[in-house]
Order: sequence, then structure tokens, then C-alpha cells
Amino acid sequence: MMFTPEHEELRRSLQKFIAAEINPHVDAWEEAGIFPAHALFKKLGTLGFLGLTKPVEHGGQGLDYSYAMVMAEELGNVACGGVPMAIGVQTDMATPALARFGSDEMKREFLAPSIAGDYVACLGVSEVGAGSDVASIKTTARKDGGDYVIDGGKMWTTNGTQADWMCLLANTSDGPEHRNKTLICLPMKTRGVEIARKLDKLGMRCSDTAQIFFDNVRVPQRHRIGEEGKGFIYQMLQFQEERLWGAAAGLKAQERLIAQTIAYTRERKAFGKSILDNQVVHFRLAELATEVELLRSLVYRACQLYVSGTDVTRLASMAKLKAGRLSREVNDACLQYWGGMGFMSETPVSRAYRDGRLSSIGGGADEVMLTIICKLMGTLPGTANAEERKASHG
Ligand SMILES: Cc1cc2nc3c(=O)[nH]c(=O)nc-3n(C[C@H](O)[C@H](O)[C@H](O)COP(=O)(O)OP(=O)(O)OC[C@H]3O[C@@H](n4cnc5c(N)ncnc54)[C@H](O)[C@@H]3O)c2cc1C
Repeated sequence: MMFTPEHEELRRSLQKFIAAEINPHVDAWEEAGIFPAHALFKKLGTLGFLGLTKPVEHGGQGLDYSYAMVMAEELGNVACGGVPMAIGVQTDMATPALARFGSDEMKREFLAPSIAGDYVACLGVSEVGAGSDVASIKTTARKDGGDYVIDGGKMWTTNGTQADWMCLLANTSDGPEHRNKTLICLPMKTRGVEIARKLDKLGMRCSDTAQIFFDNVRVPQRHRIGEEGKGFIYQMLQFQEERLWGAAAGLKAQERLIAQTIAYTRERKAFGKSILDNQVVHFRLAELATEVELLRSLVYRACQLYVSGTDVTRLASMAKLKAGRLSREVNDACLQYWGGMGFMSETPVSRAYRDGRLSSIGGGADEVMLTIICKLMGTLPGTANAEERKASHG
């Protein structure tokens, strides 16, 4: 991956922004169980960070995906996982399909204000009964006159209590499950949309996660993103960016934790020497740092191919899988070396351990990544229609 001075400038401005506008507030936001999405996104939007890869005519910067990857990587400097995840939902999970396939009218109505930071976006794919198996979602959007009438509900929706609109995946016909789905821009203030509850959770505590119900919710059919029946395919494309983003976002977070662990174990003495001076400890940390660099190489390579127009389903799935596994390994190893202090909520390793656990579940669980990789390797038993089934989410 060749970085230009523009990439480096983006890194520096993000580092400055994070140090001034995010990190000083993270402890308070974690405590409150929410962060002020509108206020923060407005600041990010004003500086152009929410539209790096989005079309210029809608307020974006029209840059290629390598800039989004650099931003994801720098967000690893945020002192928690919740805020980066919420920003990632806005930039790389809820808006890529709209930017690529949406009508001009929909882009003006939902994309432009999301890029400006006036709107907070969320992504409504997962449901109570369907996470890994996206094709089995039950939410329906049936046509009535010029409208869709939406019934059902979504689960674990990031930004869900604060969002202005949702990129919603719903069944718009009874056809085959990979061809009966449509993505729809759903304004969250529409009658019949109920934020049922803000979910309490193990980690990512400052990011709000909602359960949402839809009861007879009416939106005009022009709110459809692209073609009807193509929602599943669009969502699978959207997942490519989500997964690359997720893998990139973990890199600096893990490196920071390794550095913090080195600093702590260097100071902490047991049996007359630093904990760090035990070979098992400094070797282990060196090994983990090596693994992070390997993951970085994979992420950069996948990104470069993606930018050149190659289908990177296999590499993005591998990067997402490895990122989940490695984050658990790094967080667990580091927490161990912090001893009792590692178990205390006040230490950064404790937060990293709680937040990092999501990486093997959200955006497609490790097993879903393995399933996709196996299908592409031709080793998954009974996968005649591999193209469609390589699809599963989360
Ligand atoms: C904090 C948080 C934020 C989230 N944000 C969003 C969001 O903004 N929008 C959204 O749409 N979703 C969101 N999700 C949902 C997330 O994507 C799903 O939780 C995830 O895809 C897993 O789905 P599930 O929970 O239904 O797990 P299930 O599908 O019930 O699977 C449970 C477990 O079974 C195993 N498993 C599944 N399939 C297989 C298989 N084929 N072979 C072997 N093992 C398997 C995996 O280990 C998996 O973790 C979020 C979740 C969390 C926790």
C-alpha cells in the first residue's frame, strides 16, 4: 500500500481531532452509557471526515477506499471501541449502498446530511431471530399505493436510539430469500417506529444499541435504495466495506494496548524484578506485535485490491476473522499481565477486553467468516449455490 502525503495529512488531522474532541470525554461517555452522536458527528462532518469516499456532489470528498481505511486505522487511537464503531456505522456500514445505488433524491435527502454530520445513521439488518443468517429476516415492507408499509423489528441496532434514519433491510416479496429483499431509507421519526429499549451490554458501553419495532410504518416507495429485490446483494457488498473497516479499526487499538502493557509491566515488580523482564512476558508481547503487523499487511493488501476494483470477499473475510481472533488474544494476554489491576474497570485493558469481545461476533461472527472462506475454497459440504450463500452476515 502506497500512502501519499494526503493520507499522512488525514492521519495527523484525525489524531489531533481524537486527542482534542474525543478522548477527554470517553470516560464520561462510558459511564453514561451513551455519547452525544449529533454533537460529535457535526464536528466530524464539518471537517469532512464523514464523507471521505462519498460523492463530491453530495458533500463528500470523492476519495478512494484507502482513505476510509486510514481513517478506520486512526480511530484505533480512540480510548474505547464504542465511538469508533458508531462512526464506522455512519461512514462505512449504513451509507455505502446509498452512495453507490441510491437515487439522487435519496442521496440529497439522507446521504448529504449524513456526510455533513446533521443526520445520524443506523443499519437495520439483524433481527431477534436472524443475525448470522441474514437471508432469514422476517421484517416485511409491503406495497400499498405509492408506499411501503413496514412491519417487524430490528435488534442490536448501533446508534439506534439517536439515529435520524435507518438503512433498513426488509422483505418486499415472497420470492426466493436472496431476491426478495430491498434496502430502504427509513426516517426514524416516522409513525410506528418504536425504540423499544436501549440494550445494556458487556462492552462498547458508550455506543447505544437498540431494539426497534415497526408497526404499520409507512414510507414512500421512492425511499428504496436502488432496485427492488436487490437489497440482499447490495447489503453483501456493503458488508465488504464493513469488514475491511472492522479489521483496520483494531490495529492501532491493539498496538496501544501492547504499549500500555509494556509500560505497566515494566514498572510493576514481583520476585525482585519487573514483570516485563520475564522472558515469557516480553516474548509474548513481541509475538503479538508481530501478529498485528501481519494483520495490517493483509488489511492493506485487501484494501489495495478493493481500490483497484477486485472482489475482495475472500481477503476481507480473512481479515475480519483474523482481526476478531487476534483482538481476543491480545486483550486476554495483556489483561493477564496486568494481574488484579487488569480486572479493575478503571484500567484501559479492562475496557479493551470488554469492547474487543464484539469483534468475533458483530459484522459477521468468526464462524460466518470461516463459512465464506470455505465456500470460496470449495470445501464447504453441500453448497451448490455458493455465490448466494457466501452471503451470510451478520
Ligand atoms: C454491540 C452490537 C452491535 C451491533 N450492531 C449492529 C447493527 O448496527 N446493525 C445490525 O444489523 N446488527 C448489529 N449487530 C448484530 C450482529 O451483527 C449480530 O449479533 C451477529 O451478526 C451475530 O448474529 P446473532 O447474534 O444472531 O448470532 P447467531 O446467528 O444466533 O449465532 C450465534 C453464534 O453461533 C455461531 N454460528 C453462527 N453460524 C454458524 C455456523 N454456520 N457454523 C458454526 N457456528 C455458527 C457463532 O459463533 C455465532 O456467534 C450488533 C451486535 C452487537 C452485539
